[in-house]
Amino acid sequence: MFVEGSAAGLRADEFVLSNLSPSVAQRRFALGVVLVLLVVFIIVAGPLSSMPLRRVDAFVPAYGTAIFLIDSITAALLFAQFSVLRSHALLALANGYFLTALLAIPWTLTFPGVLAPEGGLGGGLQSTVWLYVLSHAGFALFAIVYTLLKDADPMEALSPRSIRARVLTTVGSVTALGCCATVFVTAGHAFLPRIMLDTAEVSYLWYYVVGPMAGLFVVALVLLWLRHRSVLDLWLMLVLFAYIIEISLTAFPIPYRFSVGWYAGRVYGVFSGSFVLVTLMKEVTMLYGELLRAVVGQRREREVRLLTGDAVAATVAHEIKQPLSAMTMDASASLRWLDRATPNIDEAKAALQQIVNNGHRMGAMIDNIRTLFKTDARIRTSLDVNNLIREALALVRYDLQTHRVAVQTDYNQSLPPIEGNEVQLQQVLVNLITNAIDSMATEDGDRVLSLRSKVYDSSCLMVSVEDVGKGVEPSAIDLIFKPQFTTKANGMGMGLSICRSIIEAHGGQLWVTANLPRGAIFHFTVPAHRQH
Ligand code: ADP
Repeated sequence: MFVEGSAAGLRADEFVLSNLSPSVAQRRFALGVVLVLLVVFIIVAGPLSSMPLRRVDAFVPAYGTAIFLIDSITAALLFAQFSVLRSHALLALANGYFLTALLAIPWTLTFPGVLAPEGGLGGGLQSTVWLYVLSHAGFALFAIVYTLLKDADPMEALSPRSIRARVLTTVGSVTALGCCATVFVTAGHAFLPRIMLDTAEVSYLWYYVVGPMAGLFVVALVLLWLRHRSVLDLWLMLVLFAYIIEISLTAFPIPYRFSVGWYAGRVYGVFSGSFVLVTLMKEVTMLYGELLRAVVGQRREREVRLLTGDAVAATVAHEIKQPLSAMTMDASASLRWLDRATPNIDEAKAALQQIVNNGHRMGAMIDNIRTLFKTDARIRTSLDVNNLIREALALVRYDLQTHRVAVQTDYNQSLPPIEGNEVQLQQVLVNLITNAIDSMATEDGDRVLSLRSKVYDSSCLMVSVEDVGKGVEPSAIDLIFKPQFTTKANGMGMGLSICRSIIEAHGGQLWVTANLPRGAIFHFTVPAHRQH
């Protein structure tokens, strides 16, 4: 049920209520419960307490079943916590609950009037009373053991097998103890000290038995008060407190059965059983919710990672296609220069130099794609936007020539520098220019690419890449920036989405407008570099 040491470096024991410190709200709530329990106690403990009420025969079996269910479920949840935290204290507390659950069965069956008028299982009046005492004293002792052991180190080296063995051994021992006690108090009821004379009268021994039993609860409560630390401790203190009230109601004024005090005592009994159960259930539900959220989150993260993986692959392919074809063309050109009757060494060298430049650029680009998908800071330098445009145009000059595209430039010569990543911004420009060329390549008429740089909004620079191509359909204006949207036969649809993330990472914006009468204008802004 619980997992330890998840991928996020979290530990299971950071979440369970036997380790969490109670919040102020939880403390206040507990205090409120104490006050309510006290007020109700004061109301019913007075003269009202001995007022007889109607005898409801179904009450005792219903009460016994409720205690059995509540305590056994609480025990099961505490055993589950023990299996995670391996704390002896939790094991003791779980066994305490298990004991009270177990003894609730013979208590109910021996109660006079449930199975037989004098009490079932061959027991008598004394059997029920002694089972009540044993169950309560047993729980108080287990609670004391819990309190004394709760700050001890957990049993680190326990394997799941030995955890199971410990649970089974202790459960076995408690069961054996419970069975022996039941046999002893039923078969041997005639030998038991008579602490109760009849349903309305107790012997003097009663106080010597119930007094120390209540004393055990007080000791447990005081010890826990001194050592309390966790949410579980807080709720257990409430449980002990409710038990003390229950004992005061059912044992200290002479316990007339089916009187107001007696009924109220039983209700407190159910309450004291439920406090820990309710909080454990709440915790299990909360943990389940957390687990669900974690699993969903993990799955989403995995999907995003896969998506990122796809995006990286597509980006690499997209980005290296252009320099690679430029390199092939440069290589063919240099071969042609060298193949001539009189080889033109200078031209061949220039073409080879372009290959070297493109090779470097491709290397830088791949590095950059890696950093694009990482969150660490990218290298930024002070850059001149006009230079960036010139360099980008140089990189695509073959494409421009091949498609007979005329270039017009309109640079603002007094632009302030910007701060950014040179390769990334060049990537943006090359992408926009290549898209513009592609868009014009399918159209008839003059092909003119205009590049402009200017000041925008006083603190930014703006670059515009203008073409007279087929333009962007108004319905596609937002779509084109989405990954994998393409209208080209062998397009990847990654270029613009990457451009936008690069520009946004630089604190700018990238958008498109129509170029009338035809074509598209892509604009991007980058903040000017503030000199300190
Ligand atoms: P790809 O170029 O692989 O298709 P992009 O993300 O760069 O990926 O572009 C996405 C789509 O945006 C293109 O397929 C095209 O339909 C549209 N587009 C981009 N630039 C222009 C432009 N200058 N003119 C017209 N349409 C364009």
